[in-house]
Amino acid sequence: MIKKTDPDIIKGYLEDSSNLTGGHADGVYLPESEAEIAEALTKCNSKKIPLTVSAGQTGTTGGCIPFGGWILTTHKLNKIINIDKEQKFAVVQPGVTLEELEKAVAKEGLLYPPDPTEKTATLGGNVSTNASGGRCYRFGSTRNWIKRLKIVFPSGEKLDVARNDKIQSSRYSLLVPRYSMPKTKNSAGYFSAPGMDLVDLFIGSEGTLGIVTEIEVALAPALQETFDIVAFFPTEEQAVDFVEESKKAEDKEVNFYEFFDENTLQMLKPSFPHIPAGAKAAVYIEQEIVEESNKAFIDYWAELIEKYGGSLDNCWLAADARQKEELAKFRHAIPEHINELFKQHHQTKLATDIAVPAGQFKEMFEFYRNALRVTRYASLFYIKFGHIGDNHLHVNLLAKNGKELTLSKELVLKFVRKAVELGGTVSAEHGIGKIKHDYLKEMYGDAGIKEMVRVKKEFDPAYILGLNNIYEKERLAA
Ligand SMILES: Cc1cc2nc3c(=O)[nH]c(=O)nc-3n(C[C@H](O)[C@H](O)[C@H](O)COP(=O)(O)OP(=O)(O)OC[C@H]3O[C@@H](n4cnc5c(N)ncnc54)[C@H](O)[C@@H]3O)c2cc1C
Repeated sequence: MIKKTDPDIIKGYLEDSSNLTGGHADGVYLPESEAEIAEALTKCNSKKIPLTVSAGQTGTTGGCIPFGGWILTTHKLNKIINIDKEQKFAVVQPGVTLEELEKAVAKEGLLYPPDPTEKTATLGGNVSTNASGGRCYRFGSTRNWIKRLKIVFPSGEKLDVARNDKIQSSRYSLLVPRYSMPKTKNSAGYFSAPGMDLVDLFIGSEGTLGIVTEIEVALAPALQETFDIVAFFPTEEQAVDFVEESKKAEDKEVNFYEFFDENTLQMLKPSFPHIPAGAKAAVYIEQEIVEESNKAFIDYWAELIEKYGGSLDNCWLAADARQKEELAKFRHAIPEHINELFKQHHQTKLATDIAVPAGQFKEMFEFYRNALRVTRYASLFYIKFGHIGDNHLHVNLLAKNGKELTLSKELVLKFVRKAVELGGTVSAEHGIGKIKHDYLKEMYGDAGIKEMVRVKKEFDPAYILGLNNIYEKERLAA
């Protein structure tokens, strides 16, 4: 197996988009087969050497960053094994990127619907964080599209587990974590539900239970024509009310609603100068045009946008591939810009990943707005954007000095507590990684985290995998 111990090579594996610093490792394994993964795992297991799985390194929570031990990268496991056009599924190795899979299935007239924005992320990373994106509104998160996983555990034992294999019928029947999950999309901690499938325990487990070596995903028919629009509004409230009303009308095939606040638009203005002057918020919608049903869609949107103070005249409309690409670039530019700002300010990413149940979003949104206006926090720079269709926004807080960092952290904790009070999740799609332990504790308490440790012990009794992901490693000794 290829191994590297050159510090310059290791350095390349000590970062992701969280901007978390201080990572270190003794070496990197670059396995080219499942057997080599098993070899690395059993070796580390027998010597109790920590092992951190690294994939596309696009995670936002430091999950792939090691703090000691060895790294195992899935870069070389990047083959699309099979695409079955008739049965609509694909089998891939974990290092295949979202972009590679999407392109390959598009050639067959198919679609892999989860669309977690960052195309250089891998399928292994997406599974391990239960990633989701805008289209989750219509199609659900990665979890909904996983048909089967192959996993290798630190002992070297292999598991091939399919959707609908019930945990109750397996030897792991006592491992259902004893807590209730929020009724939102969710990537916070191990999955738990009565009658759950065993495969769900591993989706979103952030490299802490085993290494995913093969993934079978379900596919959908390629989308028919879509109509994409970015509508601008004079106030944030009007943008939110526009989405709430539109979501109530169930006669349209909307793939996503994405929200951008005023600061987001200001941040992007230098790169997108045609953002209308005076716009205080924007909503980006992708709608599938299904034959007859959407004949009057432009009139529908024009009327609704005008009802909430916008105008079709200053909307960005995209009907052809090039225009759609432009809108997608605009959307992608937001996390890229803010991540770059965090980097420039040498700050670990500080952003919420909160979703709340349907019906609670307006209260959460008002809470954000009011809290950010309080004098104590008024000088902080923030942007609010994200998947409003799923009642899920990212509030990013960029601190310029130590005092602002303390205030920003204090504020995020307030947001987290409010979300938990409303029955929401502290991580809807990015996972907990190494930087959100305190938020997970707010959600499940110490008892819930003990449940997770109980699950870990079964699969990784020597505690070598993904240390400090989801919960602090000190909890394992307790
Ligand atoms: C610009 C930008 C936009 C983004 N937008 C979104 C978005 O819309 N939605 C979203 O959900 N995320 C988004 N992300 C975050 C990121 O793309 C996802 O978290 C993604 O799933 C990470 O995949 P990766 O391959 O980069 O994994 P990495 O970052 O390398 O690893 C992530 C975690 O998965 C574990 N892991 C990876 N592979 C395996 C494996 N084979 N077996 C076991 N564990 C494994 C790692 O140990 C780590 O804990 C965005 C990131 C960026 C930079």
